[in-house]
Amino acid sequence: MKSGVAVVGGGWAGCAAALTLAEAGVAVTLFEAGRTLGGRARAVELEGQRLDNGQHILLGAYEQTLQLIARLQPTAEGLWRLPLTLDQPPEFSLACPRLPAPLHLLAGLLGAQGLSWRDKLGAARWAHGLLNNPDAADHLSVSQLTRSQPEKLNRLLWHPLCVSALNTPPETASARVFRDVIRAAFGGRNHHSDLLLPRRDLTALFPAPAAARVVELGGEVRLSCRVTTLDAAADAVTVGTRDGSAAYSHVILAVAPQHLAGLAAAIPQLEPVLHGVAAYAYQPIATAYVQYDPSFRLHKPLFALANGPAQFVFDRGQSHGQPGLLALVASAAMNLSADWVDQAAAQLQQIARPGPPRWRRHIVEKQATYACVPNMARPDVRTAHPRIFLAGDYIAGPYPATLESATLSGVQSARALLEQL
Ligand SMILES: Cc1cc2nc3c(=O)[nH]c(=O)nc-3n(C[C@H](O)[C@H](O)[C@H](O)COP(=O)(O)OP(=O)(O)OC[C@H]3O[C@@H](n4cnc5c(N)ncnc54)[C@H](O)[C@@H]3O)c2cc1C
Repeated sequence: MKSGVAVVGGGWAGCAAALTLAEAGVAVTLFEAGRTLGGRARAVELEGQRLDNGQHILLGAYEQTLQLIARLQPTAEGLWRLPLTLDQPPEFSLACPRLPAPLHLLAGLLGAQGLSWRDKLGAARWAHGLLNNPDAADHLSVSQLTRSQPEKLNRLLWHPLCVSALNTPPETASARVFRDVIRAAFGGRNHHSDLLLPRRDLTALFPAPAAARVVELGGEVRLSCRVTTLDAAADAVTVGTRDGSAAYSHVILAVAPQHLAGLAAAIPQLEPVLHGVAAYAYQPIATAYVQYDPSFRLHKPLFALANGPAQFVFDRGQSHGQPGLLALVASAAMNLSADWVDQAAAQLQQIARPGPPRWRRHIVEKQATYACVPNMARPDVRTAHPRIFLAGDYIAGPYPATLESATLSGVQSARALLEQL
């Protein structure tokens, strides 16, 4: 063990950082305010079932996250890999065949059901241009970027993709980040556009095994232990909790951007970062869990849903072995009405007749992610204080607020810190 490092925040970014440090032989202490690891992607207990604070989906392009999960759970049982399909019966269906990228997208668009040939060719030409055009002006919104596309394509494909990937309405979402996500999914290898459904709860998928490995390597994981003070001197950073304080050689702050000021306001070197994140706005994501008769199942593990408020429905019977349990997800859910779960259940009637529900529960994460708008100030993992590093889904990188941006930032932050030891 080289020297003590504290990681504050046990979300996916903090767990990735702590794991990377522990594997490099550093004595790590991971502080998590909550009782459960995983932060905004964690397990919750509802109606006696192990569920998640929000249904998540991963992309085949999430190389860092997938590599971390595979390293900790080599049997690949935690994720269910599906070639990209977007089924929204009865109006639309798109499936990408196993051809080299981006031919698979072009073939998928040309074979899509529910579009005229004119729309298909327009979409294929536009997508080709997007994948090959190196610049998307920083100030443009997704609505502006997709202005030339037919209304039907925007309504059925590009705008729902934007809302799901960026958790931001197309009118305000960053065209550049949207273009980057499309390129990551469709511009690299064929399997990058695969959809990966968790098969176990989100804490069990990565944060818990990562923490277990940290402990195995001699580190410490402190749950229900909120860091309340940070005192940054030239030779150490003192971390205070209600149980006392301890000095560490370095600290990685892996809290969500909205919680950074509460920790770092007294550290002048972090002022530029705090100034940047103070301008962020946040968007909710709502997940409704509806338990139907256990004999009920959807024809496929997930479907897209038309006309809001929910964009997707997931069959957790198929993915998690929870028969009859559906998760309906509404992203960028700013204007949800009180009866949104009824409305989502009515959307479901378009594709299936599951009968009366046995129970329904919903979770609205009000600040699920920052709104991914043009020209956001996203900081580096290094700060102006040589002993303080940052990690989290808001760190500068190729993705919007996602599991991949969280794990990438965690690993990058730990590596930047290791260079200083
Ligand atoms: C409902 C929902 C659905 C989503 N769907 C998807 C999806 O399908 N695909 C996808 O890729 N991404 C999705 N996301 C986004 C993804 O979950 C986040 O981008 C990611 O989890 C952020 O991880 P993080 O580690 O950066 O931050 P966080 O998860 O916020 O972790 C920060 C941690 O710090 C802890 N903390 C805060 N203050 C303190 C303190 N003072 N002391 C100690 N600990 C502290 C918090 O308790 C928390 O555990 C979704 C998010 C939500 C909420």
